[in-house]
Amino acid sequence: MIYINRFLVSFLALVLGIALGLIALSPPRHASVDSEGFSALRAREDILRIAVEPHTVWDQEKLDSVRTFLVERLTGMGLDVETFTYPPITDSFGHSYPLVNISASIPGKSGRNILLVSHYDSAPKKRSGEQEGSLGAADDGYGLSTMLEVARILKTRKGSLQNGIRFLFTDAEETGAYGAKAEMSQNAAAWADVNFVINIEARGVKGPALMFETGSKNRATIELFRKARQPFGYSFAADVYRKMPNFSDFTEFLNKGYAGINIAVIDDLSYYHTPRDNPDNISLSSMQHYGEQVLPIVLAYTSDLRYSNPDAFESKEDMVFFPWLPGVFVSYPTTIAWIISGIVLLLFSVWFAHKVMRKETSIGKSFFWLLSWLGMAIVALAAGLGISILLGKVKDIPWNVIYMPGIPFERFILWGLVLMAAIVPWLISFRRAVKDRENASLLAGSLALNMVVLLLAHLFMPGASFMFALPVLACLAGDFLREKTGLDWVVAIPAALVLGLFLPIVHLVGLALTIGALGILLFLAFLPLSMLGPLVSRP
Ligand SMILES: [Zn+2]
Repeated sequence: MIYINRFLVSFLALVLGIALGLIALSPPRHASVDSEGFSALRAREDILRIAVEPHTVWDQEKLDSVRTFLVERLTGMGLDVETFTYPPITDSFGHSYPLVNISASIPGKSGRNILLVSHYDSAPKKRSGEQEGSLGAADDGYGLSTMLEVARILKTRKGSLQNGIRFLFTDAEETGAYGAKAEMSQNAAAWADVNFVINIEARGVKGPALMFETGSKNRATIELFRKARQPFGYSFAADVYRKMPNFSDFTEFLNKGYAGINIAVIDDLSYYHTPRDNPDNISLSSMQHYGEQVLPIVLAYTSDLRYSNPDAFESKEDMVFFPWLPGVFVSYPTTIAWIISGIVLLLFSVWFAHKVMRKETSIGKSFFWLLSWLGMAIVALAAGLGISILLGKVKDIPWNVIYMPGIPFERFILWGLVLMAAIVPWLISFRRAVKDRENASLLAGSLALNMVVLLLAHLFMPGASFMFALPVLACLAGDFLREKTGLDWVVAIPAALVLGLFLPIVHLVGLALTIGALGILLFLAFLPLSMLGPLVSRP
């Protein structure tokens, strides 16, 4: 009987957790053409005009037709349009061409502006093995069409805006962000009336539109980002991205000290910069998700005089932020994160003292399990690393921890191994909890391990602290509630919450970094799983 009970609790946690994870990763349904707000269907019309064929900087004739289309669309809507032309540059591939950025605006009463940026060149054939370049339907048709759709909605409010909105369509992003560089180095004064930048990108064609990059000291930035209808972003991603060598137009603005956000879909790299980035593969849900985030932010900005202050986005601290339950976007400053972690430590100490006094565990046994779980986590890390190196050797793709696209079945490999990383602690707990009455020691060891990682997160990557603080808190709460109510199944709720938090994170990090990061991913997944095993399998 106790076996059936524990099995059912585990199963309930798993099903609920997967459901929560899938909901978090689902972009919204697209709005109809006649809806008042942002409609992906309308935005698609622009993509169908832009992504007819590759329009790279190396084919100026094709690029010029996109440029002409954009200028005509913007003037047709009655916006003030300007083009900024710069002397020809020679890119790192040896090609020379002039730079022409397109700018448009809808002024507001204060003279202060929010700036939307995307690039209108498509990626040339850069990857070996590809016959042609990308058609730029997603990269950066998603950005261009989102901006045109936002412009369409905002121009109906022309004359009543408190703050204005500006649009910048950059040239030559794909070969080195030359268009944005030219604006920031040769035309900086023209952007002095801007205090917030939204860059819209694509590193794939589908899935949720993720806010993956923002400046540091971003408290006020995130407070504005919260105005999005379905805000989707993780503070740890912004921390990781800051340490990565990637660049986009947004990098140029960040370097100049602008506040803002960078949004992109990241699913999946096999479309990115290839002929498969074409209108057949665009996702209306993803496009709607860009709109559901960008439009409400723009509406909030342009209607509130508080943002007209040039320093409106200056802050002293960073935010920790992440989506959790459906419709819930959690954000709090890093000082609060420290307080939460202090509370976690305090509650753990009380819980542990209680378990020791009741002779359910001892310091020695718990410490033994802390080391055991750590050992297993390191084995998971090493196994993931080894497998990713091996896969690279087999497919002749150089191993790279952040970029290793093209491994077949990488999703299956990743999730198969994560499942194994889940089954190991679950099986150990299932057996030891009954046979050796080790349950409290197993749980104490894994909670302690997660708290050690929590401390490291605070020191080196504060945006990741929630990934360890909240699961520990959930597990402690679950164990406490079970003891108080005597109901076994209550622990399925915190277990599902932890799974629902982690599944999207593992999925997104896997998409962003590819299979090269398999070791990191397995290590990351093992940490919460080592707590959930003992939690759901106490007899
Ligand atoms: Zn791009």
